[in-house]
Amino acid sequence: MITRFAPSPTGRLHLGHAYSAVLGRKLGTRWLLRIEDLDPGRARPEFVDGIMEDLAWLGLAHDGAPIVQSGRTHLYAEALERLKEQGLVYPCFCTRADIAASLTAPHGDAGSAYPGTCRGLKDDPERRARVPHSWRLDSARAVEAAGGLPCWREQDGRLFEARVEMIGDAILARKDAPSSYHLACVIDDSASGVTHVVRGEDLRPSTPIQRLLQTLLDLAEPTYVHHPLVTHEDGRRLAKRDQAPTLSAMREAGVDGRALAEQLTTGFLPTGYRLSGH
Ligand code: GLU
Repeated sequence: MITRFAPSPTGRLHLGHAYSAVLGRKLGTRWLLRIEDLDPGRARPEFVDGIMEDLAWLGLAHDGAPIVQSGRTHLYAEALERLKEQGLVYPCFCTRADIAASLTAPHGDAGSAYPGTCRGLKDDPERRARVPHSWRLDSARAVEAAGGLPCWREQDGRLFEARVEMIGDAILARKDAPSSYHLACVIDDSASGVTHVVRGEDLRPSTPIQRLLQTLLDLAEPTYVHHPLVTHEDGRRLAKRDQAPTLSAMREAGVDGRALAEQLTTGFLPTGYRLSGH
């Protein structure tokens, strides 16, 4: 079983990350570390150092060298080309403000609330050369090309089938980033032979679109483990903006990292925290 821990270096890790890392480490005979540093506005090298420090403190050793997404963008670009050749993506010139103005529903996680403004525009290479744009999946065509809505299997044996509204015209490459999370994630999971994707319930909405991309790009299907999230005792999420105590703060307060990892392995959380469904 090959699992991975795939943090984004956009802040310090907190207890929820530790829980996810511990579960992945426990399940995997090989446990990989992937640094998801594709967001140029938010990813910072000092947070990569922080991730390394925190994992060492927890006593969690990953197998092999870390996989760093910013060094792999040519692979994502190739995959995007393949989707272009299949006519399954289109350039989108909308700004965030354009999209927000045309929406009544809140933003969906996988582009489900995008109103389709740029879908079906006549291709205009001159405009593409001049105007920054992103690339979106044409979800209706993609579902058709894949032979229907995607399914995924959870490790406990449950099989889920995506509903049409779970899959939107997700962005696969951005104006300012060479690949979206979804595209990079499926390419890397496949390239490193990940058999079990262990991640929080909050990422479950990403799974239908990722399964769809796996089918379109002919990638193997992993099994999924969407684990409950660590919250404060009162159910509040551990958000960075919410001043959730970081692992580094816990370390400075004298907490023993290895003992904490051990405790999390047994499913017990420190006082003040609990596991919550999404
Ligand atoms: N980079 C994502 C995060 O930190 C995790 C992605 C994944 O596990 O698929 O939330």
